[in-house]
Amino acid sequence: MTSAPLGHPVYRDMPATIFEKMSARARETGAINLGQGFPDAQGPEDILRAAADALVSRSNQYPPSGGLPELRGAVAAHYARHQDLDLRPEEVIVTSGATEAIAASLFALVQPGDEVLLLAPLYDAYLPLVERAGGVARVVTLMPPDWRIGRDALEAAVGPRTRLIILNNPLNPSGSVVTQGELAMLASFCVEHDLIAICDEVWEHVTFDGVRHQPLMAFPGMRERTVKIGSAGKIFSLTGWKIGWMCAAPPVARLLGRAHQFLTFTSAPNLQWAVAEGLSKPDTWFAGMRDGYQASRDRLVRGLREAGYAVQESAATWFVTVDLAASGVPLDDIGFCNRIIGEAGVAAIPISAFYPDAAVTHMVRLCFSKSDAVIDEAVAGLGRFRASLG
Ligand code: GLN
Repeated sequence: MTSAPLGHPVYRDMPATIFEKMSARARETGAINLGQGFPDAQGPEDILRAAADALVSRSNQYPPSGGLPELRGAVAAHYARHQDLDLRPEEVIVTSGATEAIAASLFALVQPGDEVLLLAPLYDAYLPLVERAGGVARVVTLMPPDWRIGRDALEAAVGPRTRLIILNNPLNPSGSVVTQGELAMLASFCVEHDLIAICDEVWEHVTFDGVRHQPLMAFPGMRERTVKIGSAGKIFSLTGWKIGWMCAAPPVARLLGRAHQFLTFTSAPNLQWAVAEGLSKPDTWFAGMRDGYQASRDRLVRGLREAGYAVQESAATWFVTVDLAASGVPLDDIGFCNRIIGEAGVAAIPISAFYPDAAVTHMVRLCFSKSDAVIDEAVAGLGRFRASLG
């Protein structure tokens, strides 16, 4: 019998994701889960009702692989209204969540040996997906406190084999937003080096303090070389629905559709109809959603600061970061997360999990898309823990 190792090398020694691990430990210990990003509310009643109605009254057979025409049209109309983009419905492909859209984009666009630029901190799926697609990742490291993207670092990482860059904006886990100047720089960089940008913009609507999302696709030269990815889970606080989409000019969209048809082929039709309805909600709904999360952010930030933590306020996402070093906490991020789950009754995510080389180890991410009572209880536990350190 041969003893060839089992499985693809990318997966062989891969652990479960940090989000799975922390959520499992929170379930086991009863800790408050401020780790994996998900809201604890039920979600918008009318969208839930639309999905329930569609489930019992409309077709439950395969929708077209590219998505229901109603949803493709709704996504295009939504981006025209909110981001001044001029997408046609054929340029939108519905996916089973943004993670599938990222996978489909990479499988469609990476040729063996192509280099792909990634910016760390990065969502943990990017790197293994690049490698499984046959690409070679080149990681540019962004550092706190401002996580800025510098042209010099990009120029140092780019080469003749580089074909793609993945940009997450707004950025998870920092909660920072890429500036107008950085976007203009990224656009000229992509044009100059003939790169396609895969833009993971799942947090586009969850922005605070009046910040308005700007899609890289709208910058000069980017309309034909951008894949713009969005997520109904993040927009409507329904993370379990796994309805996302990817938008691109027709020659790119065609390839994306081919990759998608052999990943999931399609997604549940009732959820697609409900999301199509949701996307046409009035501006006041989106403003209200943002105000609600901003109030939760402010509550968590205030509580943590009063408890003795140095907190970086976020401009977007459902997360804030605590700077352990600046808080005078003598622990690294993993040590802190391991201690607080038992001693404070709170699960969090170490920021080093977002860096392939663990370049940052003094920050942790906390999720605030929770009720006031849950935030207050978590703050009380973290306050007791901070006090116990002296
Ligand atoms: N995006 C989520 C987060 O940052 C995690 C998604 C997942 O667990 N697959 O918390």
